[in-house]
Amino acid sequence: MTLRIGCIADDFTGGTDVAAAFRRAGLRTALVFGTPDATTALPADCDAAVIALKSRSAPADDAVADSLAAQRVLWEMGAAQIYVKYCSTFDSTARGNIGPVTDALATATDTAVTLHCPASPPNGRTVYQGHLFVHDQLLSESPLRQHPLNPMTDSALTRLLSAQTPHPVALIDWPTVRRGADAVRDALAAHQRAGARHVIADALTDDDLATLGAAALELPVVAGAAGLAEGLSRAHPAAGPAAPVPVPREGRAAVLAGSCSVRTLEQIGHFHAAGLPAHRLDALAAASGHDVIGAALDWYDAQDPGLPALLHASAAPGELAAVQDALGVAEAAALVEGLLGTLASHLVGRGVRRLLVAGGETSGAVTTALGVRAVLVGDEADPGVPWTYATTEAGELALMLKSGNFGAPDLFTRALGAPGTPGEEHA
Ligand code: ADP
Repeated sequence: MTLRIGCIADDFTGGTDVAAAFRRAGLRTALVFGTPDATTALPADCDAAVIALKSRSAPADDAVADSLAAQRVLWEMGAAQIYVKYCSTFDSTARGNIGPVTDALATATDTAVTLHCPASPPNGRTVYQGHLFVHDQLLSESPLRQHPLNPMTDSALTRLLSAQTPHPVALIDWPTVRRGADAVRDALAAHQRAGARHVIADALTDDDLATLGAAALELPVVAGAAGLAEGLSRAHPAAGPAAPVPVPREGRAAVLAGSCSVRTLEQIGHFHAAGLPAHRLDALAAASGHDVIGAALDWYDAQDPGLPALLHASAAPGELAAVQDALGVAEAAALVEGLLGTLASHLVGRGVRRLLVAGGETSGAVTTALGVRAVLVGDEADPGVPWTYATTEAGELALMLKSGNFGAPDLFTRALGAPGTPGEEHA
């Protein structure tokens, strides 16, 4: 396999998001969960491969070691360019991990200067004068300042990144970006001559990101969110209309939901309202020894095989808090993830071939339980939510892994072709 772009994503759903961006630009894209080894079956003939790590909030040394291991594999696969995917809100700690990881990759690849831009205009993330905005607010005035893991209390990207690297950080401002790719390349060269190792670029629109992508085509390491990844991949020679990857029509369809995010709860509500079969998994009953899996499978076996079925642990905030108070937050999460992973294996064993999974951690638990370590990325059902394809012991499996707040309220019914929905022809 000779890759054009190898990407290292710092979390699981970020990996899906960036893989969808490569695919939108027409690149045949593999998404790999964790660094692959000789036993990992990878899709053939890909233009891009994304290795999704869990390095965003890990200790900096671990994030660096994991990213270097991923980079070595991507180089062995022929990747001429490494894209470092981080969050469009620059989620990081005071020490990292964006600075240490990009520094280590730059050293390993003999890179003089790394271009960064976390802008993601469709999601309201823009960069102006080096300041990151979330819609009409500075990052530091947005709800992200209260993020439970990585509170972002500064919006100045040059200052944030300077705190994470011993090397000088420079800025390419928006007027320069508007002048086009040659102006950006000249500015990069001038900053490099002046000693900068990292350059942040402003971007307000997807056109700005396309300009940056064209200017960065020859850089060995480029970093940012899914927006710059798409700009970069659109500049690659393989870019063009994506070859269609049809959703398999045979087999049963199911949704497993472990996300308690507002959007997932709406999607569950929509599924109920469409009159489709849904079953609630009771975490407290499981904790007290009830055979919740057996009951769920008995329920599943009694359903119409022609309809998609939903099994969910998702709960509204009050109910979730009650379970977490009773069991502990981490214990409850592990218990529910275990239930959903086990159910996934049973469902695939019972002939499910289209499986939609709601929740980032839940997706990790399900792919681990199914032994799925790499997928081919297909068409998006909604922005950032692509179908993916895996080969399992049971056969070909279409998987949709969605972050909690992603997708329109009707995603479950639409993607699974429930009767009376636009996707019905896929059923
Ligand atoms: P999101 O993408 O919305 O953050 P995740 O799957 O990443 O969703 O996280 C949701 C977490 O909540 C998972 O760890 C899941 O196991 C846990 N969870 C889901 N339902 C319940 C429940 N009823 N009680 C306790 N924890 C739950």
